[in-house]
This record gives sequence, structure tokens and C-alpha cells, in this order.
Amino acid sequence: MINLKEFEAWFVTGSQHLYGEETLNQVAEHSLAIARSLDNGSQIPVRVVFKPVVKTPEEILRLCQEANTAPGCIGIIAWMHTFSPAKMWIGGLKALKKPLAHLHTQYNRDIPWGEIDMDFMNLNQSAHGDREFGFMMSRMRMNRKVVVGHWEEAETLQQLGVWSRAAVAWYNSQGMKVARFGDNMREVAVTDGDKVEAELVFGYSVNGYGIGDLVKVVNQVSDASIDQTVQEYEDRYRVMDSLRKGGDRHSALRDAAKIEIGLRQFLQAGNFKAFTDTFEDLHGMVQLPGIAVQRLMNEGYGFGGEGDWKTSALVHTMKIMAAGLPGGNSFMEDYTYHFEPGNAQVLGSHMLEICESIADDKPACEIHPLGIGGKADPVRLVFNSAPGPALNVSVVDMGNRFRMIVNEVEAIPPRQALPKLPVARVLWKPLPDMKTGCAGWILAGGAHHTGYSQNLTVEHIQDFAEMAGVEFVLIGKDTSLHDLKNELRWNDLYYHVFNK
Ligand code: MN
Repeated sequence: MINLKEFEAWFVTGSQHLYGEETLNQVAEHSLAIARSLDNGSQIPVRVVFKPVVKTPEEILRLCQEANTAPGCIGIIAWMHTFSPAKMWIGGLKALKKPLAHLHTQYNRDIPWGEIDMDFMNLNQSAHGDREFGFMMSRMRMNRKVVVGHWEEAETLQQLGVWSRAAVAWYNSQGMKVARFGDNMREVAVTDGDKVEAELVFGYSVNGYGIGDLVKVVNQVSDASIDQTVQEYEDRYRVMDSLRKGGDRHSALRDAAKIEIGLRQFLQAGNFKAFTDTFEDLHGMVQLPGIAVQRLMNEGYGFGGEGDWKTSALVHTMKIMAAGLPGGNSFMEDYTYHFEPGNAQVLGSHMLEICESIADDKPACEIHPLGIGGKADPVRLVFNSAPGPALNVSVVDMGNRFRMIVNEVEAIPPRQALPKLPVARVLWKPLPDMKTGCAGWILAGGAHHTGYSQNLTVEHIQDFAEMAGVEFVLIGKDTSLHDLKNELRWNDLYYHVFNK
């Protein structure tokens, strides 16, 4: 889907001329060693590129301007080995448009007790040099990530890795195109929103296309390519007998393949990374796109049902962030509850469109009636999802700002078979518990649609929210409704005061 090694974070060390040439050479040597080590660490999926030590306001400004325009540069990892008076950074930081991670580290792990002298103290000053740098960014109200720890420590690398994944997703979000077939599901509130503001804040554009434009492409799909895709279905999934070659519903499988191929061609031709459709507006389509959406999501495309462009963009962004990690990310919807005392659960699913990447086994390929939409029965993949920690993420438009909400959940295996439920699904328990988790989500205005992730953490999403400068609300193991209600009230005030 995406090769993270095509992206680079610049490792930038600040200093000043006060110390003289010899000290500055040592600073550069140490910086190079750290940058190389970060670059070689498996925890950081992007390249880390060493940049010469900056010592003047002019050098700092030039470097920040270069970072802004350099293709593939996702942001800056900054470290003040020595004292770098922070007024020198004002111009550069004002100009910087890319994310910044402040690595608060020092070259030596331990104090060399027997050897330490004033020369050593003169060289190794990050304990206070980084505080000076931090003050300036706080004074400027700059969002950034602060990572504290020795540069060889696994946790330090892990945190920088998380930040770099969020920064790649942020980079990718700039200029990303979302195709919207038809409009919003009629009268639905949470899936709608301000697309102009979304482009200003997140960088992606959402534009509508008549379903006829897509149908035209679908109708031109060749029989030979349908044969090929049908064969892939038969090889890859447990295709039910009636859908197989010679089965009485086989033509429906061919129709589904034709929709998938046409949809993919349309998205590729327009360089779209995400899309939405709505069952109310699919004139000329034989079936609702079911397996087509599931497989396209598995290839990395974002999707949101019922015209939900915010979730569609979010799902693609989450897939970029998680590139190469085991586990998957999918469009999801809270569907039905199990309110058994002490064992309450949520059944998450959608009519059809759950991504194959979260399947715990070889999916079944089946055809069943849908009940809404007024089309021929759609072909879909049916599966359960693996147990384990997971996340639901929602982006909502609060009128004066976007709010990102995360609920940590624990996915659990279904206790019983669901023989009559012909859709892909997940069972989970929200944290901290069913009642607090659901009440918190509803109080925060979280949507019924989410991006569901098996492999991202709260930290990934929070880092991304800070890069976007949007409100971030966490409902997790430590959430209390009392505190959450206050947080939401105070956030309202904060965004009323600080939003431009
Ligand atoms: Mn829905």
C-alpha cells in the first residue's frame, strides 16, 4: 500500500557559536551517531536523516523552510545537545509547517562519575538546553510531541516510531482526494459536516460524483477481467456453492466482480484514496457494492457508508499509519448490544462493508438479501474478527471545530456461532466498562460510524490529532464521567477562545 521508507524525518540539533569549534565538532559527531542509530532502529519505520547542527537564526529559518517544501519530509526531530538560545528559533518555528518531535535525550546514558569535569558539563547540556527550547514552543502554543529518554532505549525509539507513523499519515492527508458517490444519507446528521473546513484542517478534499459516472466505468469492464477476479474469489475465499461456477447464483458473483473492477478503475483514474457511497443513491448499479468495498479497503482505500466522508478519510489515514503492522483497520459501526449483567458487549458490524484486514480466518463469500436499498442481493465476505485490544475512532464536526474521539475496547471471541447473521462482525467490550464507555461516547457526540483498529494505539491517534490541531477526547481505562463532562465543557471554552 505504502512504503514508509520513502519518507524521512530530519534529525536537527540546535547549538550556538559560543562554545567554539572543538565543542561544536563533538556536538555534530554525537548528533550523527544518534541520527544513524535512530535510522537503523526497527521501531522507526521511516528514514531518519541527519542535518548539520544549526547555530544561528538564519540557519534555523532556512532549515525549517527547506523542511516545509522537501518532498517526503514528514517532519523534524529536534534536540538541543547544548544550549541553543531559543529566540534564535522564533523565525524558524513560525515558518515551520511540518510536525515536530522534541527528543529530550543526552548523548551519554550515565553520568561518568569518576571523570566528569567542566568540559563534560559544557558539552552535555540538553537537560537545560531542551528546557529553553521547550519554553519557546510553549510560549508559541505549538503542538509537538515531547519524547524523553536515552536515544538507545527501546521506549524512546517506540515513541518516535509512533510519532513518525502519525506524521506520514499527516503528510499523506495533505492533498488526499476523497470521492463521494451521491450525497449524504438523507437527514443523517453526524455523517455530514463542513467539507471546506475539513480541507483547511486536514488537507483532504471531498468531491461528489454522479453514480452514473461510476456506472459507465463499471459497464465497460471486460468479461476477461471479470473471469480473473471471479477466479481470485474462488481461490481466496470459501465461496458458497450457489455462487461458484455452475451454481444458480454465479451471475451475481460476476456482477459483484464487475462492480469491484469498475470501482477500482474509477478510483485509480482519479487518484482517489478514499470513497463513500449511499444505498439511497445507486441508480444503475445492479447490487450495492459489498465485497468490492471490503476488498478495496483491504488494499488501503478508506471507506465510509452512507456518504460518511469524514470516516472514509479517517479509515485511509489509519491504514497509512498502520502500514506494515500486523492486524487490520476497518470501517465499523456499533450495531447491537448484549446487555447481560457483568458481561455486556457491543456487536460491531455494517450492512456489508467491513474490511477483510480484520478477519481472523479465511472469509466466507456469500450472497443474501439485504432488506434495504432495493437492489439485487449483494455478495459479501462474512467473517469474525480476532480478539484483543482495539480502538474505535470517530471524527465529528462540532460546528466550530472537529473533535476526534477514541474509545479503547477489548475485542472478544463470539461465545456462540451466529449462523443467521450473514455479515462480517466484531464483538467488543468498551473500556472502562460498558456503561461508562457508551455514556462517555454519547456525551462526546461520537458517531455510530468509526474507524476500528487492531494495531494502532491511543498514542498514534493523539499524535495525529495534535498535528491537525483538533480536539482529542479519550475514553479509556481511566475515564470517569464526571471528569469527562468537565473536560468537554472546558474544551468548548478553549476552542471558543482559541479557534481562529
Ligand atoms: Mn452505517
